[in-house]
Amino acid sequence: MRTPPDRAGRHRRRGRTCRAYVKKAAEAADLSGFHGWQVAKAAEAIEEQAVVPSSRPGLYASVSGDGVTVYLTDAIEGSCTCKAGANGRCCYHLAAALILQAAAPVRKAA
Ligand SMILES: [Zn+2]
Repeated sequence: MRTPPDRAGRHRRRGRTCRAYVKKAAEAADLSGFHGWQVAKAAEAIEEQAVVPSSRPGLYASVSGDGVTVYLTDAIEGSCTCKAGANGRCCYHLAAALILQAAAPVRKAA
């Protein structure tokens, strides 16, 4: 997944949380703020249907590695209820949610 450098680079920002970044990422489907392994794991999770859309737009249910715990991942707010997400870090659940969000025919605030 590649985005033109002008879009990917201009708004890149690393803050304490990834929320601002996620908002940009959701708009452009730009995952450059995530580590490569996170994107890979996100793709794997999507393939295994471990990250699935909920009834609420932008909200995804992410099954953790143990197959039991379910985290709520909000691709719009850029939050996740997993340990990393709760600490304001970009987790792979978020990457997965963003990929799904970008692929889904969602309404976008133009
Ligand atoms: Zn998470």
